[in-house]
Amino acid sequence: MAVMITEECINCDACAPECPVAAILGDDNEKNPHEGERFYVKPESCVECVGHADVPRCAAACPTEGSIVWDMPYTADCNEYFKEGHEAKTYAIREHKSKGLMLPEVKSQEFIGSIPLSVREAHANVMDSF
Ligand code: SF4
Ligand code: SF4
Repeated sequence: MAVMITEECINCDACAPECPVAAILGDDNEKNPHEGERFYVKPESCVECVGHADVPRCAAACPTEGSIVWDMPYTADCNEYFKEGHEAKTYAIREHKSKGLMLPEVKSQEFIGSIPLSVREAHANVMDSF
């Protein structure tokens, strides 16, 4: 990962069309573990816009302060974090037919290295970093 969408989300759909890797699901998507509540970022897909833009595009487009916040990097070091989040239904990590659950130890993702882990752990508002 990743960035994550919080309860501040007003389901306006400004973010999803901006994502270069189609990592954002609407509140009406049955694959969204928060279906009926808010939009959702798939952590196994989000690349923090590395290679696509200088800032996460979803956060730049979002009109709601505190709706798109930092989450942990989708790397093997954070495998347990995402595994526990999946079990708690905070995330709904994709199940691959042969590879199984696409946790970071199976496939990690790009992330913006300059964002301190403390900022990620605090789930700080993404746009406050730019
Ligand atoms: S940070 Fe970029 S890749 Fe990740 S969900 Fe937002 S727009 Fe998509
Ligand atoms: S742009 Fe922000 S408020 Fe709108 S759906 Fe996305 S996260 Fe929610």
